[in-house]
Amino acid sequence: MITRSPALLQRQAPSQPDVTPLILPSAWQAQLSGAIRDPRELCRRLGLDDSWLPGAERGHELFEVRIPEAFLARMRHGDPNDPLLRQVLPLAAEGEAVPGYITDPLAEADHTPARGLIHKYTGRVLLIASPTCAVNCRYCFRRHFPYEQNAPSRSQWDASLEYLRGDSSISEAILSGGDPLAAGDRQLAWLVERLDAIPHLKRLRIHTRLPVVIPDRVDDALLGWLSATRLQKVVVLHINHAQEIDDAVDAACARLREAGVTLLNQSVLLRGVNDSIDTLASLSERLFEAGVLPYYLHVLDPVAGAAHFDVPDEKARELVAGLREVLPGFLMPRLVREIPGETSKTPL
Ligand code: SF4
Repeated sequence: MITRSPALLQRQAPSQPDVTPLILPSAWQAQLSGAIRDPRELCRRLGLDDSWLPGAERGHELFEVRIPEAFLARMRHGDPNDPLLRQVLPLAAEGEAVPGYITDPLAEADHTPARGLIHKYTGRVLLIASPTCAVNCRYCFRRHFPYEQNAPSRSQWDASLEYLRGDSSISEAILSGGDPLAAGDRQLAWLVERLDAIPHLKRLRIHTRLPVVIPDRVDDALLGWLSATRLQKVVVLHINHAQEIDDAVDAACARLREAGVTLLNQSVLLRGVNDSIDTLASLSERLFEAGVLPYYLHVLDPVAGAAHFDVPDEKARELVAGLREVLPGFLMPRLVREIPGETSKTPL
């Protein structure tokens, strides 16, 4: 296995000791900054005909396109119905107003006692560790989230940490975003070290798509701070289709497990991506091969711009009933909906 470089390398020419150190990005950071951000480039690279471009440009105006090369490489060339592409391809339909689809479907703005901190559930607190993602998923319930108001600086982290220290009922800190692993390892190590020192915290949970879309994110620097904490570690991956898991994702999952991480997955049920029994069964089987347990299957949150992904509740229940007939119980994800104001996810 290739040994990954640390998050920030300092290289200095030995014959010129006074030269300013050159800070180089790690492999994953280079891939992050090199992600495709132009709808025209996306259509060209995947061999989509020109009829897709106007819609892609319209959707991009509403929520910018962002797709890392490693994820693009798993898409089928020339197939606009590829299940990975459907998750990230902007469409004109995103601009249509649909009754019931709103910008803050989970009412998170009502639960932010400190900047970058969301306290919705008993015993658990969610920290927005990074305002950005490695990939922009068109169905994302935070596609309108005001990250600029919730991207805390280090001093603002102190307020969040103080909040956690002051509430001994909180046993779990959840790093979220954006994608929390889009933050640099120095920043994350700093934060986790302080979480580690809060005696009543037991668990660190990280919700991320980065080990899937850029598997090189699971490098030595990340594993260093993750291995060092006394907290029990849970990483919840977000994978919606078996095609997302390739050899590099398998390897990233194996490294996380070796570092003592429990791996779970949550998916979103998406029309045109995974709304069939065969597709969902293949996903559960493939997750387990990668050492990941299926955890939740979410119905779509009604976020403005994503209505075209909706699968009606009745069909969702039928799919899960069919899935139960072909999968062992431990590979069954729980079908849930998040309802604002509820103290936990609501089973369907
Ligand atoms: S927060 Fe998750 S679902 Fe939303 S765009 Fe980022 S990676 Fe995708």
